[in-house]
Amino acid sequence: ARKGKTPEEVVKKYLQKVKSPPEEDCTICMEPLGGPSGYKGPGVGPVSRAESVGRLAQCGHQYHFQCLVAMYNNGNKDGSLQCPTCKTIYGVKTGNQPAGKMEYHVIPHSLPGHPDCKTIRIIYNIPPGIQGPEHPNPGKPFTARGFPRHCYLPDSEKGRKVLRLLLVAWDRRLIFSVGTSSTTGESDTVIWNEVHHKTEFGSNLTGHGFPDPGHLDNVLEELRAQGITEDDALM
Ligand code: NAD
Ligand code: ZN
Ligand code: ZN
Repeated sequence: ARKGKTPEEVVKKYLQKVKSPPEEDCTICMEPLGGPSGYKGPGVGPVSRAESVGRLAQCGHQYHFQCLVAMYNNGNKDGSLQCPTCKTIYGVKTGNQPAGKMEYHVIPHSLPGHPDCKTIRIIYNIPPGIQGPEHPNPGKPFTARGFPRHCYLPDSEKGRKVLRLLLVAWDRRLIFSVGTSSTTGESDTVIWNEVHHKTEFGSNLTGHGFPDPGHLDNVLEELRAQGITEDDALM
C-alpha cells in the first residue's frame, strides 16, 4: 500500500546529501556518479546537480538519485527501500504474497533431532487467483500447487521464536511470492520466497526434512535478511 508519499519523497527520506560525488560508478546504472543517471525511463524528471547523487543514511552506499527512484518504482512501492549492494533495508520491507491463510497447532510427536519436545505444524493455504499490480504479469491468472502446504518446527523455545517471526513475515507478505517455480519450471505460480521451511516430518527425501541441526539458525538469518528480527517477536 502506498504511504501517501511520492517515490521521490520516499527515497529522499533515507538519503544524506553528498557534497561531491566520488569518482566511482553508480552500480545501478554503471555510469559515473559524477555524471547523469543512465536511467532513461518513464517518470524520471530532471534533478538539480546538487541532488543528483545520494548516500543511503545507514550503510553509506551512494547512487544516482534517479536510479534509486527508478529502482523503487520497479518494486512494490511499499515505502521501503533496500540497498542493492549490501541489502540493508530502509523502512519496513513487504512482499507480494497473495491472499490466503496461515494456521498452526502443536502435535504430540517429536521431530528427528528434537526428541525432547513436541512439534509445531504450520498450514499455509493459498488459493489460485488473478495477479495484481505487484505481481510479474498483472491481470493474468496464477496457479497454486500443493496447497495446503504443511511445515514443521520443534516446539522448543527457539522454534516458538521462529514461529512468531514467521507470523510477522506472513503479515508482511514475505513467505510466498508469485513467479516461476525452480522445482517444476511452471511460471505464474505461487512459490516459496526466501525463507526456508521444513515440509517433511519423519523423512528427508527432498532435503526439506529433519534432522537438520542448523535449520532454526538458518531461518533466523533468512528472516533477518527480510528485515525481521527478534525485536519483531515482542508481541
Ligand atoms: P521453488 O521450487 O521455486 O523453490 C523455492 C524455494 O523453496 C527454494 O529455496 C527451495 O529450496 C524451496 N523448496 C523447494 N521444494 C521444497 C519443498 N518440498 N519443501 C520446502 N521447501 C522447498 O518453490 P515452489 O515451487 O514453491 O516449491 C516446490 C514445492 O512446492 C514442491 O516440492 C511441493 O512441495 C510443492 N509443490 C507441489 C505441487 C503439487 O502439485 N503437489 C506442485 C508444485 C509445487
Ligand atoms: Zn545510476
Ligand atoms: Zn548499502
